[in-house]
Amino acid sequence: MLNQLRYLFSQDVGLDLGTATTIIYVRDKGITLRQASAVAIEKDSGHFIAIGNEALELLGREPEGIEVILPVRDGVIHNFEITCRMLEHFFAKALAGSFGHPSLLVGVPAGTTVIERRAIYEAASYLDISEVFLIDEPLAAAVGAGLDIHQPHGSMVLDIGGGTADISVISLAGTVYAYSMPLAGDAMDQAIIDYLRHEHAFLIGQRTANRIKHCLGSAPTESNSYASKRSCLTIGGRAISSGMPATLELTGEDIQKALLPLLKKIARAVTDTLSDLPPEIVNDIRDSGVTLTGGGSLLKNLAAYLNEETELSMKRAKEPLECVVLGLQTLVDHMDTIRNRQGRDIHASVPLSVTSRARAA
Ligand code: ADP
Ligand code: MG
Repeated sequence: MLNQLRYLFSQDVGLDLGTATTIIYVRDKGITLRQASAVAIEKDSGHFIAIGNEALELLGREPEGIEVILPVRDGVIHNFEITCRMLEHFFAKALAGSFGHPSLLVGVPAGTTVIERRAIYEAASYLDISEVFLIDEPLAAAVGAGLDIHQPHGSMVLDIGGGTADISVISLAGTVYAYSMPLAGDAMDQAIIDYLRHEHAFLIGQRTANRIKHCLGSAPTESNSYASKRSCLTIGGRAISSGMPATLELTGEDIQKALLPLLKKIARAVTDTLSDLPPEIVNDIRDSGVTLTGGGSLLKNLAAYLNEETELSMKRAKEPLECVVLGLQTLVDHMDTIRNRQGRDIHASVPLSVTSRARAA
């Protein structure tokens, strides 16, 4: 009875703690926070100078004595103390004006280790949140993408986020297969930096690479190779030969060449996955195709490229950046069902062999 009374006044909250972006959903209020998972600190004192988008703006242009820290790596807490302090700030903003005790549902990558899960419970306890549930992100993303996860039908979700691309197969509301690769948005930015250094002897920073990816980036398909030659962008950086600031004109084709090796590896991982799965599930996936989620799936022509390479139909979710939080929203709106379950982890066990392979990638 006491418990029921307590939850009557609880504030149900969903947290998507992404490598690139943190999104918070508060029941009956909607999405109340969407900020870069970044913090700028004064190195000597440890004081926070900026948090979230403002901190990310400083990346690559930090004044002396200031460091920008991205405390979430590959979707899990990498720097515990900084993550806790960052979340404290985000929760204060997201829950401003709310009363009651927050109950938290957090999306975690499939294959998250026991220690990584414990870090989330400890962070929650730092934030004075006593009720915490974890759910596999692919399940939340699938719900957010509108898939019916309760069907006895295998569905494949490919989530391309900031740090990792995660291939998951879901059936009967459980993750039956998970494979994670460090080949996602950040790796695309790095591939652009490396390509310009090697092919054009030209140096750029991470922020410029990210801007190029957004403006000019695309995956090469038979139909878009002509268009990519015509689109161009002039960028600023440093010529290696002179060491001086310079400009360079880039074409879409340059960026396709830069991204191609990485995109090939993602496509290869999808086809390799099929050979690891039982034939019935492979048939299901051949019938219904693959759902693409995560910000990286917004790369132009990616779905068409992956379709050409894998011969599977690829459907990008309507709101790829928000699939996880939209899924969390659906679940948070039924928090009582979650409360009445046994255990705090809402996930089916991922085969160990798959998990270790994923972590070794
Ligand atoms: P995470 O869940 O890891 O925080 P997100 O799903 O938010 O990641 O995706 C972030 C990644 O998506 C970043 O690397 C960002 O550069 C990339 N991204 C966002 N929009 C686009 C776009 N239009 N084209 C290509 N990449 C994009
Ligand atoms: Mg994500």
